[in-house]
Amino acid sequence: MEKSKISSNVDSIEISGIRKFYNKVVKVEGAISLTLGQPDFPVPEGIKKAMIEAINENKTVYTSNAGILELRQEISNMLKTQDIGYDSDEICVTVGGSEGLMDVFSTLINPKDKVLIPTPAYPAYESCVKLLGGEIINYNLNESDFSIDFSKLQNIIKQQNPKLLVLSYPSNPTGAILSKEARDKLYEIVKNEDIIVITDEMYSSLCFEDNYYSIAQFKDIKDKVIVVNGFSKMFSMTGLRIGYVCASNKYIDSIIKVHQYNVSCAPSIAQYGVVHGLRHCMKDVEYMKGEFIKRRDYVYERLIKIGFEVQLPKGAFYIFPSIKKFASNSEEFCESILRKAKVAAVPGTAFGKGGEGYMRISYAYSQKQLEEAFDRIERVLL
Ligand code: PLP
Repeated sequence: MEKSKISSNVDSIEISGIRKFYNKVVKVEGAISLTLGQPDFPVPEGIKKAMIEAINENKTVYTSNAGILELRQEISNMLKTQDIGYDSDEICVTVGGSEGLMDVFSTLINPKDKVLIPTPAYPAYESCVKLLGGEIINYNLNESDFSIDFSKLQNIIKQQNPKLLVLSYPSNPTGAILSKEARDKLYEIVKNEDIIVITDEMYSSLCFEDNYYSIAQFKDIKDKVIVVNGFSKMFSMTGLRIGYVCASNKYIDSIIKVHQYNVSCAPSIAQYGVVHGLRHCMKDVEYMKGEFIKRRDYVYERLIKIGFEVQLPKGAFYIFPSIKKFASNSEEFCESILRKAKVAAVPGTAFGKGGEGYMRISYAYSQKQLEEAFDRIERVLL
């Protein structure tokens, strides 16, 4: 038999469990899908107009590798409002947060390097690390509220000596955010250990509390923190593919090098759109956030009424109820809800081992769809 020519690292990963389940959903006629992390709002009008203008002005050529300066300056200004300090030359504009993550991992990982990844978490972290031949070490989150168990984390760091620690707040899939107390405890660990933190803050614009906390707010550990973020969720522009990475001078040039050979630059037209968005469309962002809070409250109440145990999410647009009262296996439970109620939610196991016993519902869908979906689930479970 011919030996496979596919690299063993590629062979070791699978397509995302979210997509896998979505592919099952499209085969069920009349199913309501609450599976994707894609806001249902149109891109703000101002951004659309700015992009059309940019096309008419023929701004269709390569930009500088790191992204247009106006955009990096606007990102720097926005981050300052969150007490996060990066200058324009410490920012690289990427093709969505996805490319940003891959660039950062590629810049830092040698084969066998250990990377601490939370579970449950966004599945790309584990796949990127596997693709690069790194070694994944999971740290479990507390069952009660998906916060970090600091004594366990500290022990793992001491025993395993990982090179990287991935943080992901506001969280996909749990909707948890980083509290001030957790941020401060993390700071103590990062300051004292030889570790670099990659903090994925893709949903930072969707934090439902008054204050936003990030490990990137401490200036004295700047050399140990790298931020990945983007505009897919913030401006509801998942298909326009603009993200960014922030890192101190110690790392940013290497990250830009990787980025250059991956993609040269992020799409020029979309970059001009985001510049306009950051200058003039923050009201749209606030509006979307307000709508997500209403939906969050609605979905939470419906789940409680049906009898699910569930945490009230404090950010992003996902809710992560426990299914343990109804079943022991997430995948079987989600398949049964899909079959009987024609509603699709993603099995928690799509987000790693720590997701068993849960399902992820995305409430980035219209109120009408949410109402119909929960009426259906209620009929099947009550
Ligand atoms: N990080 C998290 C936590 C996400 O949920 C996503 C997308 O869903 C990404 C990164 C990737 O974002 P993008 O679509 O901008 O590549």
